[in-house]
Parts: sequence; C-alpha cells; structure tokens
Amino acid sequence: FWAACLQHFERELTPQQFKTWIKPLKYERQAHDIVLHAPNRFVLDWVRDRFLETIESIAKAHFDGKAHVTLQLAGPSTESAPAPLAGAPRAKVRAKDPSRLNPIFTFDTFVTGKANQLARAAAIQVAENPGTAYNPLFIYGGVGLGKTHLIQAIGNLVHELHPEAKIRYTHAEQYVSDVVKAYQHKSFDDFKQYYHSLDLLLIDDIQFFSGKSRTQEEFFYAFNALIEAHKQVVITCDSYPKEINGIEDRLISRFGWGLTVAVEPPELEMRVAILIKKAATEQIQLDEGVAFFIAKHIRSNVRELEGALKRVVAFSRFTGMPITLDLAREALKDLLAVQSRQISIENIQKTVADYYKIKVSDLYSKKRSRNVARPRQLAMALAKELTSLSLPDIGDAFGGRDHTTVLHACRKIGELQATNPEISRDFKTLIQILRG
Ligand code: ADP
Ligand code: MG
Repeated sequence: FWAACLQHFERELTPQQFKTWIKPLKYERQAHDIVLHAPNRFVLDWVRDRFLETIESIAKAHFDGKAHVTLQLAGPSTESAPAPLAGAPRAKVRAKDPSRLNPIFTFDTFVTGKANQLARAAAIQVAENPGTAYNPLFIYGGVGLGKTHLIQAIGNLVHELHPEAKIRYTHAEQYVSDVVKAYQHKSFDDFKQYYHSLDLLLIDDIQFFSGKSRTQEEFFYAFNALIEAHKQVVITCDSYPKEINGIEDRLISRFGWGLTVAVEPPELEMRVAILIKKAATEQIQLDEGVAFFIAKHIRSNVRELEGALKRVVAFSRFTGMPITLDLAREALKDLLAVQSRQISIENIQKTVADYYKIKVSDLYSKKRSRNVARPRQLAMALAKELTSLSLPDIGDAFGGRDHTTVLHACRKIGELQATNPEISRDFKTLIQILRG
C-alpha cells in the first residue's frame, strides 16, 4: 500500500514537494491501522491538510474500505507544544523554580508602540517599585496581545533586581485548581500561608475566576493580605474590570485600587516591527517587504502574527528557499484564503445592520438620519480595517459613494473611538464578531 501511495504522489507532485512532504513520512501498519509518522509538526499539519484525504482513499481501495489512517509525530513529541518563537537561545522554564516564570518573556523582547506603551511603562514602574507604584496593576486586553508576556516580564525583572523575592506566577485556572486541591486535602491553611507570604503575586487571565465563588473568596483574602503588607499584585484579564461577569463586586472594586491599563491591537508598523524582531531572535533577517506583507494580512493579534512568521520560516527551511514575498504568499496561502472568506464587505454590512437593528439596504441608501448615518460610517471604517479593499471599492459597495466620503467616515470613526466610549466599544465588539 505505501509503495502505491509513494508512487501516486511521486507522479502527482513536483519532485521538491514530494521530497519535502511525502518522503519523510515513516509508514507503520498493524492490521487495518495505518500510522504515518511525520518528522515534525509542520509536515504533519501540511500532510493532514493537503494529502490525508488522498492517502485515506488509496488505503481504502487497498484494504477493502477498512483501513484507518492516522498521522503522528515521530520520536519524542517535544514539538507538539508550540514553542514560543521569541528568545534565542531556546530557554526552558526554570526547572524547580517555584515562581513558574518563563525567562523568555522580558521587557527586552517586548516591542512597544502606541498600542501598549502605557501598559509597558506601568509594568516597568511596578517591577522597579513593587508594592509602592501601583497596587494592584491590572492589565487587560484581547487575546494574543501580550498580557502574559508583560506580566511575566514583571516577574522576571523583579527576580533580576531582587533574587530573594518570593514571586509566584499563576494562571487563574491553576489557582482555581489549587483551591480545589486545598479542598480535597483539607489544606487551606497551607494554601493561605503560601499565597499570603509572597512578595509578588502575578495572576494571569483572572476572568477564569468567573462563577467560582470559593476561589474568589480565597483570592479576596490573599489579595487583602498582600496589599496591606505592601506586596505587589499584578492581574491580567481579557476585559475591563467592570465588564467581567461572574466576579464579586468587592473584588471588582479592588481591581481598580491601583492602576488599570489596556493593551490594544498593534497598528501596522508595530506589527512589522514585531515580525522583524521575532525573526531576528531566530537569526533571520526578514525583508521589510515580506514583513509588511505578513503584517498587512495578519491583523488580529501578535500570537497569530508569530504563527504566520513561524509558518513562513518553516516553509523556507523545508524547501531550502530564501524568504521572499512569493514564498510568504505560498506559505500563508491557506491562512489568507480562510481570512478573505470570513470577512467580506457583505458580511460587514450584514453584521453592522443586525447590530444596530437597521436594514442592510439603509447602509447603501441616501438616508442621512443619524441612526443610519453612524452605522454606515462604522461599516465603512470596518471595511477599511478588515478587508483589503480600496477606498473607492468601499464607496462603491455603499451605494456608489465617493472615496472621500469613505475617507471622512474612517477619520470620523477614528476620532470617535478616542472620544466616545460607546462608539469605541461598538467598534471593538463588531470587530470581534466579524473575526469570529
Ligand atoms: P495574551 O496573554 O495577551 O493572550 P501573550 O502574552 O501570550 O498574549 O502573547 C502572545 C505571543 O505574542 C507571545 O509569544 C508574546 O511573546 C508575543 N507578543 C505579544 N505582544 C508582543 C510585543 N509587543 N512584542 C513582542 N512579542 C509580543
Ligand atoms: Mg495570556
């Protein structure tokens, strides 16, 4: 069977493709269970997405429809967890370090721009003056925007400045499970003693406390004890404190005692800077044109930006070709196809109309009443932000309006985002809805 597969692909693919994707697979079979071992995660994904279906159909033909094909990583599965791209040499989490900090997340590797400069400055202040600058420091923002990176950077800097400080980084889910364990072992005293004795407590993604009242109670005590003792607490969350659901008011109000800062999605130039920096840590000199190409297409968050870069780098390594615009385009083909399918201008118009409970046709009508005009401007600004359409294209899609009208709408919405919290929230919510 495998020989037949090889033959098939040798015929269908270019020699380069065959050598890169099919040849490295190791074949193993037990009865009707066929396992193909891929040398790494990248090959595995690629084969699964593009060739698995064909392999399965060949197998079915060979084994009377009974075969079952699975793909696995060969050897020790160290590659299965996506390793962060940042930080050469590849650092491991300090073994036995009770702080649970990952030393690759530092301020040095954190790229700053308008989107995060406030959060970064506050984080550095706190790390340099723990317990006295802002307590707690509350960092919030969407996924993949650097919250974990920042909170860990605080821990790492405090550790560097005060090696004796008792630091603990805990993901909120871990904290919840620590509470559960304390329950099971009736060890709340130990739990309290440990958490209340810290010099620096870093709690990541506190929205996970939602609905967990015992956890919240324990955290309430820990929080009070630490703040009273002038020990630093840093919290991250996916939303603004008042907007978190399922968390007690007494905690929410305490979150606002120190400083609350946001991390926002990075703008284009910052995304380019991040890409170039990430590439540099891998000893790759990324061409600015390629960086712009990736950054233009991957806008949602830094994690996805990193993922895209990894894909491009891996593609170049496996094919032995230099990183050019064409190579990047090829490596990201699937990703880009998915994106452009998801967010079309029709999609945006429909979503905005539903959101404001108006008709889609109102958006391209000549109506100028505010309840229609504002959503129309928002929809135009969203089209500019989320699609690669030009201003005239967008104008066309809104009943043949002039490109200057679109430009005006984008500027207006940009201004309103800074001055009008309601518009700013609507805009963000709509982006979230549209990005799924
Ligand atoms: P979050 O916790 O907000 O979901 P992370 O901190 O996990 O996001 O960030 C996702 C990835 O993007 C991480 O690998 C992180 O190092 C990287 N990253 C995020 N923001 C930046 C930045 N400003 N500069 C460099 N890397 C960043
Ligand atoms: Mg995080």
